[in-house]
Amino acid sequence: MAYNHLPTEELQALDAAHHMHPFTDGNALNKKGARVITSAKGVTITDSDGKEILDAMAGLWCVNIGYGRDELADVAARQMRQLPYYNTFFQTTHVPAIELAKKLSQLVPGDLNHVFFNGSGSDANDTNIRMVRHYWALKGKPDKKTIIARWNGYHGSTVGAASLGGMKGMHAQGGLPIPDIAHIDQPDWWSEGGEQSPHAFGLERARQLEAKINELGEDKVAAFIAEPIQGAGGVIIPPESYWPEIQRICDKYEILLIADEVICGFGRTGQWFGSQTMGIRPDIMTIAKGLSSGYAPIGGSVVSDEIASVINSGEFNHGYTYSAHPVAAAVALENLRILEEEKIVEHAGKVAAPYLAGKWAELADHPLVGEAKIKGLMGSIALTPDAASRAAFAAGAGVVGLMCRDRCFANGLVMRHVGDRMIISPPLIITHQDIDTLIERATKSLDETY
Ligand code: PLP
Repeated sequence: MAYNHLPTEELQALDAAHHMHPFTDGNALNKKGARVITSAKGVTITDSDGKEILDAMAGLWCVNIGYGRDELADVAARQMRQLPYYNTFFQTTHVPAIELAKKLSQLVPGDLNHVFFNGSGSDANDTNIRMVRHYWALKGKPDKKTIIARWNGYHGSTVGAASLGGMKGMHAQGGLPIPDIAHIDQPDWWSEGGEQSPHAFGLERARQLEAKINELGEDKVAAFIAEPIQGAGGVIIPPESYWPEIQRICDKYEILLIADEVICGFGRTGQWFGSQTMGIRPDIMTIAKGLSSGYAPIGGSVVSDEIASVINSGEFNHGYTYSAHPVAAAVALENLRILEEEKIVEHAGKVAAPYLAGKWAELADHPLVGEAKIKGLMGSIALTPDAASRAAFAAGAGVVGLMCRDRCFANGLVMRHVGDRMIISPPLIITHQDIDTLIERATKSLDETY
């Protein structure tokens, strides 16, 4: 790279002049300049000033096997030499696509044995919208097309995926949502549970799905989509009563259940899929991120035998140039091989998660922290000036969270803030020693924020 040796300020100036960033306030960026990350190894990223930072977000929840695995680079180079690109349209296929689809059908539980590949999680959720509507149309129920999702859920940034998502700030830009999408409230007991017990609140929120189905009419509802654990919404771990009730309702009304496993999949919750951890039986799974550990862009919709047989009964007029891109598919396969052979999911669930959970719970004793919750290797702490009343800060939503995020970075730790929640999702290879460092830096940052 010609720019590799430019000083940080120069890189930042060029960046601000020409690069438009996702989910970034351009004004703030022009004043401060973006952090320039230049290399990474294991759980650590290094910036252009040589500062080493523990990445407790695994990039954007995706670098499950950790940074710097040469095997993935080697596989990508080999595949680029042999077949850098070919499509999977019009009765054509290639070996990486075949092998990855087969591997996923073995890994994903239940009868989800068929994969429609996409370039990302957003693409995959757009595919899901079209696929479930087409499925019901083929079954003679063309009116069954509304998809119910949740406020504060996140399903991606394309027009369809952002419509499924319940981020009001996204809906406000670009005329979303598209028609025939409905939302129910999220199961966030800390922020919205009031005086109810978590159990009662979980049931109440799940039953909103039943109420919405009855309001719209069972014959109009195609599917319900949700993340097993909401990630971008702030790592919202639902009460235990929530998912069994959702499953019961989907079964009762013949509503397809789409589990968006883009974050939860591939070990994040301590098992291969969040659906296993939360005890649900989806008809469709959205996958991306951990599928390739972020080393190459790839996503997919994994669907049941029944859905595949209906969709495959004719032509599904849908697809992306990069559906099952051979290099990305080869990288994903190698990533899955490493996850399996090195027992990284078992490490995450049985070694790292219990140790982290113990340390994470101790953060709840900090005067700035109300609730500390964690499942597998995704956790959040809710910041509050008064834990007993779960009060919000007078400074306004997200101000203290942002301060804490900045203190973390200064202290060599990437923790993200969602409003006044601080969240983590570290690489699955994280060791006890790394966890000690994470907690030490988080505590120091909280002390400096308070
Ligand atoms: N679904 C979930 C649950 C996500 O968290 C994300 C991204 O964070 C997406 C979908 C969108 O994936 P992508 O950014 O790869 O399009």
